[in-house]
Amino acid sequence: LLAPARCAAAVGTAAPKVEGGGRRSSEQGQLAVAPARLVDELVEEALVWSSQHGLVVGDKNHPRSGKAPGVGLLHAPFALLPMSFSKVYWDQAVELAPLFNELVDRVSLDGDFLQETLSRTKEVDSFTGRLLDIHAKMMKLNKKEDVRLGLTRSDYMVDGATGQLLQVELNTISTSSNGLACGVCELHRNLIRQHERELGLDPESVVGNTAIAQHAEALAGAWAEFNNQSSVVLVVVQPEERDGLPVAVVYFRAGYTPNDYPSEAEWRARLLIECSSAIKCPSIAHHLVGTKKIQQELAKENVLERFLDNKADIEKVRKCFAGLWSLENDSIVMSAIESPELFVLKPQREGGGNNIYGDNLRETLISLKKDGSNELAAYILMQRIFPPASLCYLVRDGTCIRENAVSEFGIFGAYLRNKDRVIINDQCGYLMRTKAASLNEGGVVAGYAFLNSVFLT
Ligand code: ADP
Ligand code: MG
Ligand code: MG
Repeated sequence: LLAPARCAAAVGTAAPKVEGGGRRSSEQGQLAVAPARLVDELVEEALVWSSQHGLVVGDKNHPRSGKAPGVGLLHAPFALLPMSFSKVYWDQAVELAPLFNELVDRVSLDGDFLQETLSRTKEVDSFTGRLLDIHAKMMKLNKKEDVRLGLTRSDYMVDGATGQLLQVELNTISTSSNGLACGVCELHRNLIRQHERELGLDPESVVGNTAIAQHAEALAGAWAEFNNQSSVVLVVVQPEERDGLPVAVVYFRAGYTPNDYPSEAEWRARLLIECSSAIKCPSIAHHLVGTKKIQQELAKENVLERFLDNKADIEKVRKCFAGLWSLENDSIVMSAIESPELFVLKPQREGGGNNIYGDNLRETLISLKKDGSNELAAYILMQRIFPPASLCYLVRDGTCIRENAVSEFGIFGAYLRNKDRVIINDQCGYLMRTKAASLNEGGVVAGYAFLNSVFLT
């Protein structure tokens, strides 16, 4: 492991070679002395490249955006230069990807564990409750999913104090941004190639991103296992779609938030899909494994041992767990009320913007405790990770700002299995997101973070 002093240099903006200084290390703040002319040039080129290569998102301010194809598009928010990232962390995250894939699958097969662990959450969180109801129905029918497809993303931050790579969360549904992540990687390679001499950076050090190709391959692999030439892949977006052909694979790009179920019709559709012979990505069980509550339960002593056999693997997985606590633990609740800045309070939700921090966290805990209500069971507490910050150029809406920023690094995974045959269990590219160090939350779509790529050091 890296000592804290080195850790700051292990994660920072890839630094251009500065005239006179001549250094190409990744120390913090090096970019601060980049000539303004060069920055302006890079920003303009990056904006043109983004428009030409589809590194774009819908523009919320345009009335016809999302309604008419090709109308109301805006470049995706991106960091101007890649984030330097130590090979030690990269290797660790890559090694963990297949272990987490396997763990998700094994946990998903233990229906009693899922029902039991989430039983108290269910009482106070109706969304998780509805998902569990579908899961319980499948258990009652003794429905077996022979072919299982998981497209996952395990997210990490480097803990500045210890230099450890810690898992933020494990996503098992709608693991988005793979297309944009591939795009920003190409953007950075291109910019660095064009300005190789001035920047003094090697474009080959930007790690290529295979997320799109590998996830598409896994979907196609699942379709092939279904073994029906006339079948299709159904992608669930908003709202729910249907067609007249047999469905081999259902991919949920939606369905992870209560907003995706505005009426009973959507719940009926989810149940219908779960009952069908189609391969679900994810199945209801895989979906539930991705909840924060299960993440917290797996971090308890002797729980990983129920699902993984290899001691060395168990140690590797455990090493990336941050502090995670159930709110039944009164002493930790008291600590969080005393020092809320050291914790994150998380409900069972996805998509960013749902966590509670700081004074809000304290007040929420105090009021939940006062009520003596079961509402506490809707949440978990997590150790707040403080990643090392560095100065970055961040571009949004055509404007470049310089910010003290931190990064979150995700590794995509794919898992395809038919009965005892594991067909794919792989890491599949990555997502690097950078946000102002002062912010709590971190989604790109949610408007907090900027897309970035990995500059391996
Ligand atoms: P979601 O499923 O909504 O993405 P996350 O657990 O990933 O939920 O939390 C959202 C964001 O909050 C993360 O992207 C990260 O920026 C921040 N965050 C979450 N957990 C922590 C933590 N333990 N320490 C620091 N920041 C965190
Ligand atoms: Mg998530
Ligand atoms: Mg997240």
